[in-house]
Amino acid sequence: MKKISLLGATGSVGLQTLDVIREHPEHFSVVALAFGENIKTALPLIHEFQPKLVAVKNKQIADQLSNQLDSHIRLVYGVEGMIETAVHPESDLLVNAVLGSIGLEPTLAAIKAGKTIGLANKETLVTAGHLVMKSAAEHGVSILPIDSEHSAIFQSMQGQDRSAISRLILTASGGSFRDKSRDELSEVTIEDALNHPNWSMGAKITVDSATMMNKGLEVIEAHWLFDMPYEKIDTIIHRESIVHSLVEYADHSVIAQLGMPSMLVPIQYALTYPSRFELKQTKQLNLWEIGSLHFQKVDMQRYPSVSLAYHAGKIGGSMPTVLNAANETAVQAFLSGKIKFLDIERYVEMALDQHDRIQMPDLETIEAVDKETRAFVMKQIM
Ligand code: NDP
Ligand code: MG
Repeated sequence: MKKISLLGATGSVGLQTLDVIREHPEHFSVVALAFGENIKTALPLIHEFQPKLVAVKNKQIADQLSNQLDSHIRLVYGVEGMIETAVHPESDLLVNAVLGSIGLEPTLAAIKAGKTIGLANKETLVTAGHLVMKSAAEHGVSILPIDSEHSAIFQSMQGQDRSAISRLILTASGGSFRDKSRDELSEVTIEDALNHPNWSMGAKITVDSATMMNKGLEVIEAHWLFDMPYEKIDTIIHRESIVHSLVEYADHSVIAQLGMPSMLVPIQYALTYPSRFELKQTKQLNLWEIGSLHFQKVDMQRYPSVSLAYHAGKIGGSMPTVLNAANETAVQAFLSGKIKFLDIERYVEMALDQHDRIQMPDLETIEAVDKETRAFVMKQIM
């Protein structure tokens, strides 16, 4: 029996993690869970999974929840609460499915406590990949990818000679606006952006897919997870989202992982690795039903977010922290109707331009840069 701590339990990945756990009650249980504000979604889950610890976003939500919980469940809040969830003494594995760089501190704490980590929260690796991977190596902790592209790459590396990898190729669906020209993007709405052709996900990552910043963040995520230079990480548009990513080896052999688009597969693989379990909730891939698969080069003029991310990643230091914080702030502003779609990448670029790189930022510096960048973008928006 594996005991799991879960951050972001009420979100898209969090709920699907609980779907996987529900299918295998003999193998998994939830020992601690954290969410933000969504008490209505969380309450039935707490009753069903009976965690020993529950963490929420702040004291106000904790006060609203406290009289609705069984008295033996410990209730905590804030970042401290998420950290307590992440390092719960009984947990064997942390699934980090919280949204945004707020997931960094709990991840670092879990690594120090020796917990295996299933990581969906890519912003953590973008903002401080060097700290996370160094600490994981020092503590002998495995970081198992949940992001589908990275899980595909991880799966395509099993049993292979990692020193012979010549290229990682991340596939991208192209997002909600893949059939629109750049000119057509200026007046698109929030509703249009949230209408993703292949995947049902949280709002932020759906917007990130539409700008393709998601692929940019994933390039940086891949750089850290697999210790690959940026020159060896490629992206490619693949409309059908059937080939989840590919690994090329020195002999030009390419190994990929395929399947119907579903986050349940990469989530479960992180939970069962190195084993594989049955997964009744997912569909078989019948390629004859799909018929054909399409691939296309990413046009960096059409999707400047991807080149901004490569740029920030290659310069390194505190630049990816700025990229991520500016993007989180701008996407939030777009989702609340304050800015237009094309403003997102404009603000990210402005934030990168005004920042002087700090070479090897420690945690304190990263948190300061994150905060300053958010304030900078907010000020431009006002
Ligand atoms: P959602 O927006 O659906 O969920 C976010 C979760 O984080 C919710 O449970 C939310 O709680 C919680 N949360 C947000 N802010 C706080 C906070 N301050 N304190 C505590 N909890 C908080 O996001 P997704 O599930 O889509 O994405 C989660 C992560 O996984 C992201 O990093 C994303 O990039 C990554 N990812 C997602 C994929 C997907 O298919 N969705 C695919 C690959 C990666 P509440 O709603 O209760 O406020
Ligand atoms: Mg992904």
